Amino acid sequence: MEVDLGAIRRNAERLAERAGVPLIAMLKGDAYGLGAIAVAHMLANENSVWGFGVATVEEGAVLRDNGIDSRLLCCTPVTPDELPQMQKRGITPSLSRAEDIEQWRALGTDAWHLAIDTGLNRAGARWDELLSLREIVARNPPEGAFTHFLATAVDDASRTLQESRFSKALADCDMKRAAPNVILHVDNSLGIATRAPSPYHLARPGMSLFGWPERGVVTLDPVLGVFARVIDIRTVQAGESVSYGGIWTAPDVRRLATISIGHADGYRRSFSNNAKVVINGTRCAVVGIVTMDMTMVDVSAAECGIGDVATLIGGRGNQRLELSEVAAFGDISPYELLVGFKLRLPHVYSDSSGP
Ligand SMILES: *Cc1c(COP(=O)(O)O)cnc(C)c1O
Repeated sequence: MEVDLGAIRRNAERLAERAGVPLIAMLKGDAYGLGAIAVAHMLANENSVWGFGVATVEEGAVLRDNGIDSRLLCCTPVTPDELPQMQKRGITPSLSRAEDIEQWRALGTDAWHLAIDTGLNRAGARWDELLSLREIVARNPPEGAFTHFLATAVDDASRTLQESRFSKALADCDMKRAAPNVILHVDNSLGIATRAPSPYHLARPGMSLFGWPERGVVTLDPVLGVFARVIDIRTVQAGESVSYGGIWTAPDVRRLATISIGHADGYRRSFSNNAKVVINGTRCAVVGIVTMDMTMVDVSAAECGIGDVATLIGGRGNQRLELSEVAAFGDISPYELLVGFKLRLPHVYSDSSGP
């Protein structure tokens, strides 16, 4: 897997420019499988980046251990026993339960953000229950407050409803009085893509830092390529099956290449019989079940020798394989595809903006 850190930096700049506000760059899931340490070092000194978003104390601690001293916001709830560790490592928690807010204050005066659930029904204080936090918020004003969209499509009307609930929730806990300078952040990648400038103070993109979704309104640079070598070649006769379970049978004589990637690398089993790869400029079909370490492709129409490179994602020209297209081959989301590459696949970093 090749990761272009310069492209991530340019994407961050463009997203911040479009949103008109600085970013919390979401680096959870090891930066969506691309490697949080490398990405954080690339973005740490960017003016457009306010801080980084993580999902667990451990993710934050790894960044601290590797010299990242930027603001870290844990956007996921933690259990009370994790709060002392968060305080020690300088990780800002997202809180929504009165007893947790009290406990955090008992540890010191460090910042915390109020998580408000406006309809995702996943985490945070329910938007219609903020009156019950009014008093504690007045005594322990948060640094920030946020909610998270449920929409996965551009024209989803849910956003308007969620935003009106967010406003009501802030009014119900009298945020204007408790924390007049509270930092509000709501927009994720899709939010930034579909509306600009942001009406809030920060935006929280994850996926779009890494080049998806592209909506035409911001040009995002492609960030990653996934490649594997051809490590074996054979000819099979009509009627012979290929790989486990024999779910693919050669309709006639075919030349097959075995490439050095499998589901232990994050190249999904659901790509079996469905995905395409590019070898020497020709699109070739994955045939049979993707195994743990090897995948077979039909190279009957391609020039192909041992050691040749198969492109699984990325590449150049009209033979490019877009992340979203590849995810669709396996009927999975681009998010799930990316985070899976955190398994065995070696990551090679470059910087296309370098000297
Ligand atoms: C993951 C996440 C984001 C980023 O979402 P993208 O769709 O990747 O931009 C933003 N906010 C929260 C709370 C998240 O968990």
